[in-house]
Amino acid sequence: MPLYLVSTPIGNLEDITQRALRTLREADLIAAEDTRVTGRLLAHYRIDRPMLSYFEHNEARRIPQVLEALRQGQNVALVSNAGTPGISDPGFPLIRACIEAGIGVVPVPGPSAILAALAASGLPVHEFWFRGFAPRKASPRKRFLQESASSSATLIFYESPFRIRALLEASLEVYGDRRCALGRELTKKFEEMIRGNLSEAIAWAAHNEPRGEFVLLIQGSS
Ligand code: SAM
Repeated sequence: MPLYLVSTPIGNLEDITQRALRTLREADLIAAEDTRVTGRLLAHYRIDRPMLSYFEHNEARRIPQVLEALRQGQNVALVSNAGTPGISDPGFPLIRACIEAGIGVVPVPGPSAILAALAASGLPVHEFWFRGFAPRKASPRKRFLQESASSSATLIFYESPFRIRALLEASLEVYGDRRCALGRELTKKFEEMIRGNLSEAIAWAAHNEPRGEFVLLIQGSS
């Protein structure tokens, strides 16, 4: 059987496809980044299937177990806490291992914060560069940002509330006062899209204690 990569909501529990729900209902095993988080989703949809924890620090140990289950013909679904598995989330080594073992990998597409934020940002969508999480320390972060300074693509970053100010300030220093959008708590109760220039986003962050989850989008070099 192939490995199913099942996308789950990034906040709003209604954002899950019929096919994702069926795949989870039919799974013999659900490999989940955090079984408590996925347990809440499954309970909401009254799905009761066996789960196996699969996260960054047990990936190496779990891969042979998952491959064995797939070889035995079990239906295995991989899910992360939110959005699409493998996208800044555990999954990549398992996906590679399946491909190398000749086992199919089938996406069951759905939400991902990248496209949700990009679509609503008002920034150019025809070309984008997903940069994921920037390094935490100042000088590697600056070097990382500089790598995309001359790109004309809209740049997309994931960031935690604890480092969003530092990322905004470093971005202003590297890119100048470009247009940007800050997607916060998308699809959730306190959803916001802050649009403006980087200096305006910094002013917003100075006046509002950043809370929740953020996607930062910055217009490319013109
Ligand atoms: N796999 C997920 C996806 O497909 O979007 C991403 C997982 S990554 C560990 C988590 C990061 O995604 C957060 O730190 C934040 O940058 C972004 N994110 C996830 N959900 C979000 C939401 N509802 N609103 C804004 N950003 C979100």
